[in-house]
Amino acid sequence: MTIAAIEAGGTKFVLGLYQAEASGCTRPEQLAKASIPTTTPSETLARAGDFFSEAARQAGEPIDVFGIGSFGPVELKPQSPEWGHITATPKPHWAGTDMAGYYHERFNVPVAFDTDVNAAAYAEFLWGGAQGLSDFVYITVGTGIGGGIFSGGNLVHGLSHPELGHIRIAREPDDPFLGICPFHHDCLEGLASGPAIAARWDSDPAAIPEGHAAWELEARYLARAIAAYVLVLSPEAILMGGGVGMRPGLAEKVCDLVGEELAGYIPALARPGKLPGYVSRPQLGSEAGLLGAAALGLRLCVE
Ligand code: ZN
Repeated sequence: MTIAAIEAGGTKFVLGLYQAEASGCTRPEQLAKASIPTTTPSETLARAGDFFSEAARQAGEPIDVFGIGSFGPVELKPQSPEWGHITATPKPHWAGTDMAGYYHERFNVPVAFDTDVNAAAYAEFLWGGAQGLSDFVYITVGTGIGGGIFSGGNLVHGLSHPELGHIRIAREPDDPFLGICPFHHDCLEGLASGPAIAARWDSDPAAIPEGHAAWELEARYLARAIAAYVLVLSPEAILMGGGVGMRPGLAEKVCDLVGEELAGYIPALARPGKLPGYVSRPQLGSEAGLLGAAALGLRLCVE
């Protein structure tokens, strides 16, 4: 079966055409891949569609299904007329975009749709670092902070979908930074996303050297949020992706601080280093989101 997979991000859309066994167990093979900038909805959706038309023609395989992992917030309730739409995003022009509907109408095939982070979590469960786990959290720290939750063997949706970046955490007493989230100012994303680091320290995060106070504070805030996830969800592991999250050494630093934040209350994390690798980088790295989108499409066909 042929799957068109889209990892729809606020700055770029990553597109992949995949071939998969109909049994749905093995990792699909990538036939073609491209990345396009996220501009206006009509231009971006059309360009992605053109890529898939051409890639499918070259492969000589008609597309059977679309799988989309999207930036959000998005509507995921199957019974809602807005299902598959982007909802209240502050990103100009994108609120109300019917992403799933566009591809369903243009290609006349089923479309699987979820958040980009739930998609990435699902790929890590199937083929990456979370194989065999029933409960884990996938968090991405980059342009924004988001998270997918796998709980009791299922992706969590519920009322809408988890928004792990927008929880409020206790601030360091000497931190004067007001935060940059347009909704909450000093939620986790407002304090610790890539743009927040850039605004706080007036520097591209990639240019801030190891040993700078920025990374101590970053690890502290991420550990504080993860401690909250631990208390609420009892995850067996935390996978931390994203441009900032995958910075060498950050996951290890955060891992040590999670135990400190919990002050010995959770025995498995009672002291730093007791559960090495509890916070780790995703095994599929930056491929997790796109592979996850393919996996969502595959699952839709197999079910
Ligand atoms: Zn927020």
